[in-house]
Amino acid sequence: MVLLSGGLDSATVLAMAQEKGYECHCLTVAYGQRHAVEIDAARKLAAALGAVEHKVLRLDLRDIGGSALTDDAISVPKGGLQDGIPATYVPARNTLFLALALGYAEVIGARDLFIGVNAVDYSGYPDCRPEFVAAFETLANLATKAGVEGARFQIHAPLVSMTKAEIIRQGLRLGVDYGLTTSCYDPVDGDPCGQCDSCLIRSAAFAEVGVPDPVCDRSEPRGTIANEAPSEPREST
Ligand code: ZN
Repeated sequence: MVLLSGGLDSATVLAMAQEKGYECHCLTVAYGQRHAVEIDAARKLAAALGAVEHKVLRLDLRDIGGSALTDDAISVPKGGLQDGIPATYVPARNTLFLALALGYAEVIGARDLFIGVNAVDYSGYPDCRPEFVAAFETLANLATKAGVEGARFQIHAPLVSMTKAEIIRQGLRLGVDYGLTTSCYDPVDGDPCGQCDSCLIRSAAFAEVGVPDPVCDRSEPRGTIANEAPSEPREST
């Protein structure tokens, strides 16, 4: 079970899980995010990377708000990382997403959950730390019928101690088409703003790796490669 956002990190995680031989079921949460363009990116990535299934689950977090990503009254910070946890933090998002993935994993008999959290080049979100991942794994085994009956859930966070540049190198090695990914928190007509934390972290990492970012530097419309994908995963909502 791979939580797939449509961003660079989760795309790399999906490729890593595929490389290890897992039959990957992807879960994308449509949570009312400002950057809903990422849901379409997730669809293309699931197809391009050979997932067996891609499910889009709707859980509208605009009903509780509290984040620049889910509340139009809160603007996305631009122009560089500030101290503290930024306004793009979505309250308890990874707890909610992992809980949804855990529930679906239990239904289909999956025991390995993959999430692309990263505690190095990140924005300071508390639910991206290794302590959080370990705590959720404990919870997963306590909270489920499968866990009580002896199944062992594992939460895999293979990027947690990698830099963003290391993640990109890993993905390039595995053939991830980063042209299909989207990272911007505040895209304008689907294009990255170039100013938000996520855009800045991404562009610094591509510069460090020494390759152009196919999203920012593309001259062709995004998605042309996805159309050549050999097969679409089973999709359900
Ligand atoms: Zn941006």
